[in-house]
Amino acid sequence: MIESVPSPAPRVAVILLAGGRGTRAGFGQPKQLERLGGKPVLRWSLDAFGGHPAVSGGVLVANRDVMAAIGELPEGWISAAPGSERQQSVANALAALADWDDEVFVLVHDAARPGVDTAVIDRLLGALQDAEAAIPTLPVPDTLVEQAHDEAGDVIDRGVLARVQTPQAFRLGTLRRAHLEAVEAAATDDAQLVRRLGVAVAAVPGDARLHKLTYGEDMAILAGLLGTGTMRTAVGTGYDVHRLVAGKPLWIGGIEIAHSHGLEGHSDADVALHAITDAILGALADGDIGDHFPPSDPQWRGAASHRFLAFAGERVNARGGRIEHVDLTIIAEAPKIGPHRFAIRARIAEILALPLNHVSVKATTTERLGFTGRREGIAAQAIATLSLPEN
Ligand code: MG
Repeated sequence: MIESVPSPAPRVAVILLAGGRGTRAGFGQPKQLERLGGKPVLRWSLDAFGGHPAVSGGVLVANRDVMAAIGELPEGWISAAPGSERQQSVANALAALADWDDEVFVLVHDAARPGVDTAVIDRLLGALQDAEAAIPTLPVPDTLVEQAHDEAGDVIDRGVLARVQTPQAFRLGTLRRAHLEAVEAAATDDAQLVRRLGVAVAAVPGDARLHKLTYGEDMAILAGLLGTGTMRTAVGTGYDVHRLVAGKPLWIGGIEIAHSHGLEGHSDADVALHAITDAILGALADGDIGDHFPPSDPQWRGAASHRFLAFAGERVNARGGRIEHVDLTIIAEAPKIGPHRFAIRARIAEILALPLNHVSVKATTTERLGFTGRREGIAAQAIATLSLPEN
């Protein structure tokens, strides 16, 4: 096999702007933390740049609460504090890149555009071979008119207009110079500042997927553009057994049932909730109850099992998924489960925050056969059906 020698690609740095508060969108949190397809909006850009072979590092401009929520940055990335205006945020990031050479390429990107991908990055970097600056643009499909108050005026020639997106690409030295000379002049993007230097800005084709998250309804548009709306069905099974011993409280399905015997185990030994927890973890392909709550860990001694089940439900939410249905079968000779079926259903629905008709509870005996028939133990099996995002 012949090994190819990689060509010496120029280093590329990224300035990722995530300092906005997103108040226009009316979200309950900064819009860059809204979940899109199972991960925060900001994480989409971090993953796209972090995974591009030419990008060797970057500066994430974000407040501390956003930094704390986003977790670990890709290798070679640092953070900087946002300024009160966008331009000041870029200036702060440039200060953080003080050690980088003027010839480095820099991509300035707004984290509210999660659909950045390799193709648009490559088009921009390609344009920088012959230009000092390059931006992605799209044509204007609608007719445009002047408007004053409620009255439509003359048509504006849309043929000479374009919509400007990010990322915008620059030689670092050029962007530094533009910001030095623009201290007093406010601009809504960096290409405008560079043009004021008399530097030509190349336009490359943009991408509809670079749609900007501004309003609440943009989340649905982005989900469609990025293919995150598609869900797959995942099914998991769980099975559990605990031994019956005299003189212990009996917990089944999150309720205490009066009986001469109770179940023995490290936690409260709620065999039904353990089976459902394992079924949900199985559908998530996320290990089993023992992986998350090791019996060797003393903190789970005597623990109430609704905590385990609630944890599994939270793991589904964290993936952007939902529990469609839970079907539980309790296998016991005694006590009779029938009188408690409704209470168990209601309790499971409550723990998982599900409508009652998404939870089924059945019970059976084994006709006095086997360990359950001899009243030595109780078994439970469960099937959980989840919808999980493809992306
Ligand atoms: Mg168990």
